[in-house]
Amino acid sequence: MPVPTSPRPLGRHHPALPLTALALLLTTACSAVSDAASDADPTAAPPLPAPQKEDGATGTGDGNGADDDRRPEDAPAVGGPLDGRVVVIDPGHNGGNAEAPDEINARVPAGPGEKSCDTVGSQTADGYAEHEFNWELSLLVRDRLEADGATVVLTRDDDESVGPCIDERARIGNEVDADAAVSIHADGGPESGRGFHVITPGEVPDFTDDIVEPSRLLAEDLRREYRDGTGMPYADYLADEGLDVRTDLGGLNMSDVPKVFLEAGNLRNPRDAALLGDPAWQEGAADAIARGLAVYLLRG
Ligand SMILES: [Zn+2]
Repeated sequence: MPVPTSPRPLGRHHPALPLTALALLLTTACSAVSDAASDADPTAAPPLPAPQKEDGATGTGDGNGADDDRRPEDAPAVGGPLDGRVVVIDPGHNGGNAEAPDEINARVPAGPGEKSCDTVGSQTADGYAEHEFNWELSLLVRDRLEADGATVVLTRDDDESVGPCIDERARIGNEVDADAAVSIHADGGPESGRGFHVITPGEVPDFTDDIVEPSRLLAEDLRREYRDGTGMPYADYLADEGLDVRTDLGGLNMSDVPKVFLEAGNLRNPRDAALLGDPAWQEGAADAIARGLAVYLLRG
């Protein structure tokens, strides 16, 4: 399925995502998005939050009452276009997993069944580990979202520990009642295969019923902005034009908030690996991921 183009003036090497500028461009972006989203109102541009003066900001929640006490207390009163929005960024795997097989192989709830707590993850041919890539990119995305007012919760505190398990990663998003959650990974596919894909939850009765549709919208926004912002092609060895619907991932099945996985590229492919390991490319990728999240969050 062809996807609409996105506003390109926000260049891939821009050091910080100017979401105020993005908001000005969203009328164009989201009217195009609506073509692909059958249940979206095709005439409605997303209601853009009014810019807030820092002096007037009172913290998290932005006046939404009942849910405010479930949100993190220490959110800075930034006053940007994402003020009051809560995003969970989940850097896949962790640096200590390889040395903790008992913990990592323990069975945990993953929906109707159980799966291993976590896995070690992939790596490039020269040893650049997926957990490190996931961590570095997640921090860059966090910085951009926080700069524009969002409250960002990471599912782990460093890149040396073990876990958390996949069900705990989902629970973290549920506990803060996140508006969106993204699990950041890079694949360990066949060496000949290139490209990225976004994984979105399929129907799992009594588990994903409430998140399938919003997660699909999040997946589409993230897919479009990531492709356009990074030049990374859709994966050519799996998924369907960069989208994969799965019902076997505990991190999605256990989530009660809209959530997707980004497989940012294939670490086993030399061309992808060169990009994924390039700090300048990572900056642009973080811009694109933050932009995809912002488009989704500002849908209204
Ligand atoms: Zn992974």
